[in-house]
Amino acid sequence: MQDKELYQHILGLASPWSVSGVELDIDAGEIRVHVAHPRGTKFGCPECEQELPCYDHAEERRWRHLDSCQFKTILVARPPRVECPEHGVKNVSVPWAEKSSRFTILFERLAIDILLATQTVTGAMSILRTSWDETWYFVQRAVRRGQDRKEARSLPRIGIDEKAFAKGQDYITLLYDLDNSTVEAISDGNNTDSGIACFSQLSQEQIASVEAVAMDMSAAYIKATKQAIPLAEDKIVHDRFHVMQLANKAVDKVRRGEHRKLTLDDDNRLAKTKYLWLTSQENLTEKQDALFGEVFTLRLETGKAWGYKELLRDLWDHDDAASATAFFQDWYRRVIHTKLEPMKKVARTIKERLQNVVSYCTHGITNAVAEGLNSKIMSIKRRVGGYRNRENFKTAIFFYCGGLDLYPR
Ligand SMILES: [Zn+2]
Repeated sequence: MQDKELYQHILGLASPWSVSGVELDIDAGEIRVHVAHPRGTKFGCPECEQELPCYDHAEERRWRHLDSCQFKTILVARPPRVECPEHGVKNVSVPWAEKSSRFTILFERLAIDILLATQTVTGAMSILRTSWDETWYFVQRAVRRGQDRKEARSLPRIGIDEKAFAKGQDYITLLYDLDNSTVEAISDGNNTDSGIACFSQLSQEQIASVEAVAMDMSAAYIKATKQAIPLAEDKIVHDRFHVMQLANKAVDKVRRGEHRKLTLDDDNRLAKTKYLWLTSQENLTEKQDALFGEVFTLRLETGKAWGYKELLRDLWDHDDAASATAFFQDWYRRVIHTKLEPMKKVARTIKERLQNVVSYCTHGITNAVAEGLNSKIMSIKRRVGGYRNRENFKTAIFFYCGGLDLYPR
């Protein structure tokens, strides 16, 4: 079999295109496959598809294709141009590559597979033997392609949450589809406008389809949701993990205050116990549990605070909002009569938003799915060593977490 014929088969070139020559450049580690069409071939105008004779040829172009035995394989051709009576002189699109890409469709598909598998641009670069910019270009193009194709589906259960970018000084807001575990919208910042900017990326039909929205208790997202979603008050569900996080922080605050007081009397019982109090009892390791037993006493303020925190957890075990509300009111009465100021503050915060905490019983959603996505996002960020800027970080989130159809075809 002649090399021309071999490449004709390997490339799967369809008429009128055929291999006109194959060059092996050992020094460059490159195989160049020249592709041409016979004289007199007609091509469709890219605008109106009218069949027209070849007018002339554009400059020679090169497309990186899948390697042949470690050799970079380059398709070389001069794309024909047609002169359409209606649209003027136009470049004809070639079947092996997307418009303006310097890579064939098959190479781009491979690049996407490798990017998904390695989850890093630098990792994919070394396998593909492409530059950072070239590799990043696959990500950008794939996201654009996916977003162009994406159909607006209904979003009955969504979540809205903030994510720190660049060591917590800079935030983005993410909007999740909780049923499909995908990121649907991203905006800059974490204030009310950021929330509204996320909702505004949804269609009117999608907004109308929202039945429940999981979020933390920040005023910004509550306000944004009330502005963007009709009847939001019945749909907001404060994420149980965020609520418990507030309780955990309060326990820690009590511990720090008490530790400071105790050390004045050389009592160091609470030193280095921070994480013991943040863990729920069933999750303590054996060693921690033994240590916890030594430190835990209801005579310590920290022990009391921890007890109330653990009790609060039961709020989410109730089947209906009424019994959850009754449970909370009882919990509130106990906490509010203590001297545990940080816990009392949490109790008041929850009381103020109680309707949207117990709405968990109705809607049963949390941002836990989103938390899973968040950790995925953080690991992507870490492994890649940053995406150079916030826009790139957002693009990468859509690439890995957007549930998009990324591939060229
Ligand atoms: Zn035309």
